[in-house]
Amino acid sequence: MYLILLGAPGAGKGTQAVELSKILKVPHISTGDIFRDNIKAKTELGVIADSYISKGKLVPDDVTTNMVDDRISQEDCKNGFILDGFPRTIAQAEALEKILGKTKSKLLKVLNIVISEDVVLRRLSQRRICPNCKRSYHLEFDPPHGDICYSCGAKVVQRPDDVPDVIKQRLITYNESTKPLIDFYRSKGSLVNVQSENDIDESLQNSLYALGLKGI
Ligand code: AMP
Repeated sequence: MYLILLGAPGAGKGTQAVELSKILKVPHISTGDIFRDNIKAKTELGVIADSYISKGKLVPDDVTTNMVDDRISQEDCKNGFILDGFPRTIAQAEALEKILGKTKSKLLKVLNIVISEDVVLRRLSQRRICPNCKRSYHLEFDPPHGDICYSCGAKVVQRPDDVPDVIKQRLITYNESTKPLIDFYRSKGSLVNVQSENDIDESLQNSLYALGLKGI
């Protein structure tokens, strides 16, 4: 399956993608995670990406699209993938269609994870992540063990872009650049809305239902 997860920052794309990847047996590709790994490793890409991410802005389309093109050309993506955080602009969506070609583009399914801005703000400020295995935590509803990741034992951290000023800018960026993708994919008949206000289990069930996979 060729799946795109759309949604505002904090909508739960990453959390859903991890579970859907296990169920659908296709790789989860998070452009945000790839950028963060590059920032940590201080690569050239990481230095470029950090200068945008730290301000809540988008990394330029050509940089991001080339990175995704490289990743989805790999062997493990030949039967599909889950894209989490890409595309984020119309130009990226058009580039993706070119990369995939007509046949695969027609197979693309897009889950638009719907969530109110209030919930986004509460989720992002309380979010902590494991930089090692990428598991995401919520300080109130799904806290780590002290500041230790249950899954791998690494120390969890707050993402530097999960602070109020950057969150505000990320939401502006989402509304300006990413939200238009809802109409883009709706007009192609590939978009399904999924409610994600409540807990992850319910959101995941909603996604499976939307993909015609209820009962798995
Ligand atoms: P995420 O982990 O998906 O919230 O992404 C974190 C940050 O990485 C975003 O706020 C952007 O600055 C950058 N980023 C991730 N994906 C993209 C993309 N498709 N295009 C441009 N920038 C991106």
